[in-house]
Amino acid sequence: MMDLSKYRIVDLSSEIVPGVLSGERYIHGTSRRRFELRRFVYAPDGTFMNWVYTETHIGTHVECPSHYLENGKDVSSLPLSTFMGEAVVVNAKGRRAEPITPVDMESGGVAEGDIVLMFSGWSGEDKPFIGKETAKWLRERKVKMIGVDDSIGVEARGSMATHDYLLRSDIPIIEGLCHLEELKRKRVFFIALPLRVKGLDSSWVRAVALEEI
Ligand SMILES: [Zn+2]
Repeated sequence: MMDLSKYRIVDLSSEIVPGVLSGERYIHGTSRRRFELRRFVYAPDGTFMNWVYTETHIGTHVECPSHYLENGKDVSSLPLSTFMGEAVVVNAKGRRAEPITPVDMESGGVAEGDIVLMFSGWSGEDKPFIGKETAKWLRERKVKMIGVDDSIGVEARGSMATHDYLLRSDIPIIEGLCHLEELKRKRVFFIALPLRVKGLDSSWVRAVALEEI
């Protein structure tokens, strides 16, 4: 059996703090997207439950093909093995508003079948982004899934190249990861499972890295 004491468990998910109504908008952290809980008492036994009002693209979430393609697979239609496995962490530190290239992927040690996690540490506008050639390269390299934090753009502003190359090939995209810079190893075991909801285009995930100590 796997001995968890040999691993450091790193939570790569952002905490969603349910928002409050402000004017006509709901605020979640710096996002303007709605995440609202409404507690109610379940009459038969007096327990507390919540109605949840939100959208699928908030906090750390995985985007699946049906987010982009009318007849694409939803979160419950991709095999569970897609959402877990060996991941390589690509650090694009020091890059500015420029594409991350296939050369970066190669020097980052990306191998066929990897989950690829990327961060740059950049804050603010004009962040580095996954270039079109790189999206194509990732697809050809048959990576299993990619994940970025807020310091990397999934693609250039106005482009949908990464969505197009990856989601058409059933390669999901995770947005809103955090704490990637806390990982000490270049390779970790990564897990981020979507909820099993039929028809859902994307799902909030609890993203976790298991890092050998
Ligand atoms: Zn999204």
